[in-house]
Amino acid sequence: MSERNKIVIKNISRVYQINKSNSKQKKEFLAIKNIDLIVKKGEFLTIVGPSGCGKSTLLDIIAGLSKPNSGQIYIDDKLITGPSLDRGIVMQGYALLPWRTVRQNVEFGLEIKGLPKAMRKEISSRYIHLVGLNNFEDRFPFELSGGMKQRVAIARALAYDPEVLLMDEPFAAVDAQTREVLQDELLRIWEETHKTILFITHSIDEAVALADRVAIMTSNPGTIKEIVDIKLPRPRRIGDIRTSPDFSWIKHRVWESLHDGHSDLKISTHQKKDVAIEISPTAVL
Ligand code: ADP
Ligand code: MG
Repeated sequence: MSERNKIVIKNISRVYQINKSNSKQKKEFLAIKNIDLIVKKGEFLTIVGPSGCGKSTLLDIIAGLSKPNSGQIYIDDKLITGPSLDRGIVMQGYALLPWRTVRQNVEFGLEIKGLPKAMRKEISSRYIHLVGLNNFEDRFPFELSGGMKQRVAIARALAYDPEVLLMDEPFAAVDAQTREVLQDELLRIWEETHKTILFITHSIDEAVALADRVAIMTSNPGTIKEIVDIKLPRPRRIGDIRTSPDFSWIKHRVWESLHDGHSDLKISTHQKKDVAIEISPTAVL
């Protein structure tokens, strides 16, 4: 894997104007504060944090869907000024176009790119196959389960071949079993395509199982508290990872950080050689 920087997030803050209680006046609410983060090319980085800590706020800014009050984001050294097809976005809740079939949804970005019909069909077939939806090409979203809709959303994001995938709790709305299947599929797709993935979740389990590194966010205001290297072996399969003692240990370590714990679980010298993580300082810039 190249160590080149793909996404560089510099000093991002975002303030919302919110209503004062019992008044029509507005007050400022600092949702995220001075966020610095680098995602390397080909890296799978997850951000984990409690609900409301500003994860979606940050992702929307990286997607170019909203503007920060301070700071800049660069992809391949280019300043982000708005949305672009260089970033595939998969949000919670699918956002499929209900009047389009699976294939037409997957081909949406390809139409915008102006690709001819035959090429669109070839590409959409490949990604429909990759997410395991063969034989469902002609179905409409209302004819699909939640897990299937999420697969269509992933196939659509991948089909126009963005180098970066931005995923905001993409599996939060599906049941536990489907979630595991989709996590495995995402791991497989990442291993096949070497995309740079920034994946947001409030699940410690999911964050650790998928990532090369986990960025831990805390709230009020949202900041990145620390970044944990996940040295679990690859290729990974979710079922295998779950039985690994290292996995449990790392999850506990992340949990402690999120809950501001300073308990007895410090890394002692003799433990250190056995564990699969290294703690690095928050700031990477
Ligand atoms: P997360 O995705 O981590 O759950 P969000 O980024 O959605 O968190 O929200 C972070 C904080 O900013 C929350 O307190 C939320 O209520 C607030 N917030 C989000 N969007 C808006 C908005 N458009 N206007 C005002 N406050 C907002
Ligand atoms: Mg969110």
